[in-house]
Amino acid sequence: MIRNNNQRTRMLIAWFAVCAIFLMPVSVYPQTRLKLHSNKYSIQDDIKLGRQAAAEAERQFPLLRDPEVQSYVERVGNRLVAAMPPEFRHPGFQYYFRVINARDINAFALPGGPMYINRGMIEAARREGEMAGVMAHEAAHVALRHGTAQATKGQKYGTLAGILGIAGQVIGGPAGAAAQIAGQGVGVYFLKFSREYETEADILGAQIMARAGYDPRDLAAMFQTIERQGGGSSGGFLSSHPSPQNRYARINQEAQYLRVQNPIRDSGEFARVQAKLRGYQGAPSMAEIARSGQRYPSEGPGNYPEDAPRGRVDYPSTRYRSYNEFGFLTVSVPDNWRKLGDNNAVWFSPEGGYGQYQNQAVFTHGVSFGVSRTQSRDLQQATQELINSLAQGNRGLRQSTNFQRLTMSGRAGLSVGLTNVNEATRQTESITLITTQLRNGDLFYMVAVAPQSEARSFTSSFNNILRSVRLSD
Ligand SMILES: [Zn+2]
Repeated sequence: MIRNNNQRTRMLIAWFAVCAIFLMPVSVYPQTRLKLHSNKYSIQDDIKLGRQAAAEAERQFPLLRDPEVQSYVERVGNRLVAAMPPEFRHPGFQYYFRVINARDINAFALPGGPMYINRGMIEAARREGEMAGVMAHEAAHVALRHGTAQATKGQKYGTLAGILGIAGQVIGGPAGAAAQIAGQGVGVYFLKFSREYETEADILGAQIMARAGYDPRDLAAMFQTIERQGGGSSGGFLSSHPSPQNRYARINQEAQYLRVQNPIRDSGEFARVQAKLRGYQGAPSMAEIARSGQRYPSEGPGNYPEDAPRGRVDYPSTRYRSYNEFGFLTVSVPDNWRKLGDNNAVWFSPEGGYGQYQNQAVFTHGVSFGVSRTQSRDLQQATQELINSLAQGNRGLRQSTNFQRLTMSGRAGLSVGLTNVNEATRQTESITLITTQLRNGDLFYMVAVAPQSEARSFTSSFNNILRSVRLSD
C-alpha cells in the first residue's frame, strides 16, 4: 500500500495529537516523583516526528493571526517552559505556541514541543492560571515524552514505520465518538493517552505551575470550567466520559505539597486578550474545519509545506481593516486580504485568490465594489442590466437564485446568487451580487466570490463585510 507523506503525517498527528485532559478520570496514584517511561525512540525522533506533525497540523487548522494574542500566549508558555524541572529538559526540544481559531475547548501538543491552544479554551478560562494550567499539562506530556513512550509500548518494531503502522490501526479502530473529528478524507482523531499518562501530566503540570508562580489548583479549577461549559460547542465530549472529579481531587492533593514560588500578580492582560477574542466573529468548531476540507498553508519558516497546493488561500482573518473608497464608501474587510483595483472598481482578495489569465486580472476569492451607470431607475432592472454585462465577460455565468430584498447601509437593496465557471481555474464559483442605488441614480454593487467548494468558509466574512458597508454619497 502506498501512502503519501501527508497521509503519514496525518496519522502521526492522530497518534500524537493527544489531549485527553478532559476525558479521563484518575485513579489514586500516590507517587509524585515522576520518571520517564522506557522509550525506544531517540530525542531526535521526538523532534522530527513533532515537526512533521506540526507542519500537517498547521495545514489542517486555521491559526489565529493576532500578534497581541500570539505574544501573550507565548509569554505564558515560555514562563512555564522555563520552570520545567531540570530532569525533564531535553536537548533540542523547542517549545512553541500557536492559537487555533476554533471554538472547542481544547489544546494539544506534539513531541519535541509544538503546542496548539484553541481560541475556545482561552475564551472559556476564568483567569490566566486556568489557561496556564492546560498549557502546563500539555508541556508535561511533551517533557515526559508520552507520545513516543506510548508508541513504544504499543508496537513491536522500534522504527518510525512501526509508529505509522500502529497509528493506522488506531485510526481504523473506534477512537471514541467524542474524540473523533471526521472529515472528507481528512480524518483527524484525537486519541487518548492512558489514564496513567494523564495523571502524570496532571502532576508534572501542577509542579511546573507552582515553579512558574501559578497556583496549581488553577489546573484543577479548569476542569470545573470545562465541565460547566462542556456541553454546547465542545461536541459533548464530557458526556461520554465520567466527571473529572478524581482528577480534580488528585491535583488539589498534589497542590498541598507544592509551594508557589514568586506568585504571579494579575496584570490584567488575560482579561484584555479574552475581551479581544470575544469581540471577534465566532470561530468554527474543529469538526466544521475538518468537514470544510480546506487547507491552510502555514507561514513560519522551516515548516512551510513544499507541496502546498496552488490556489489555496488562507482562511479569512477574524481581524478587519477599514478602507475608504470612491470618496463615499467605508468598508471593513479581513486584514489578510489585499486591496487591488482601479478607479472604477476595487477588489479585496486574499493572497492566492487573484492572478492573471490571458492578460486579464482574475479573482477567485474576495469581494469587489463598484459603480455602474445604468439607464434604468428601477433597482431590479438596473441589477439585471449589470448581470447581463457581467455575463458578456464570463460565459459560464448563470443566475442561481431569485432576487431578494435586503438593506445595505440602511438603503433598499437587492441580493442575487450566481454561479460561474472560472475560465482560468475551471472551477465552479459561487457569486453573490448585492446592489443598491446611489443618490444620483447610479447603481452601487458588491460582488462576493469564492469557489463553490470553499464558499461556506467565506460566508460569515462576506456577511460581516456587507454589514460594515457605509455609503455617504
Ligand atoms: Zn492530557
